Amino acid sequence: MTKVLVAEDNAVNRELLRELLEARGYTVLEACDGQEALRMIEQTHPDILLLDIGMPVLDGFAVVRKIRENPGLATLPVLAVTAYAMQGDRENVLNSGFDGYLSKPINARALAEELERLLHKREDRNTPKSTHERHPTEKRGAADAGQ
Ligand code: MN
Repeated sequence: MTKVLVAEDNAVNRELLRELLEARGYTVLEACDGQEALRMIEQTHPDILLLDIGMPVLDGFAVVRKIRENPGLATLPVLAVTAYAMQGDRENVLNSGFDGYLSKPINARALAEELERLLHKREDRNTPKSTHERHPTEKRGAADAGQ
């Protein structure tokens, strides 16, 4: 089972994300602030982190910085979930250590596609080149950078 940690301070948003993720077969863990998110990562070893930017105690930027400073967490995919829908904020997010970006309100299909893209990306990193099979979603990689 793929474990998704949802770090989000808003209970309604957490519940929505849980429902969307469980409907797609993911196991969902929850954290209500940035500090709890870091503790949950150490304790539960999620496969991917959905990280709200605006949170108390530690915000999403601080959490992703701490994750990237930890060599043991270098391959943990982190997907930003944020109300900041402006283009400049998206670039800021992607330059801050996040692997992807979803803006609220959450689109169920975009959520599913980003999760699959990031989980495959991580599998590829862990797969020797000789057995590497190109995944169709990789073709979007070059285009993503210019969006
Ligand atoms: Mn928030």
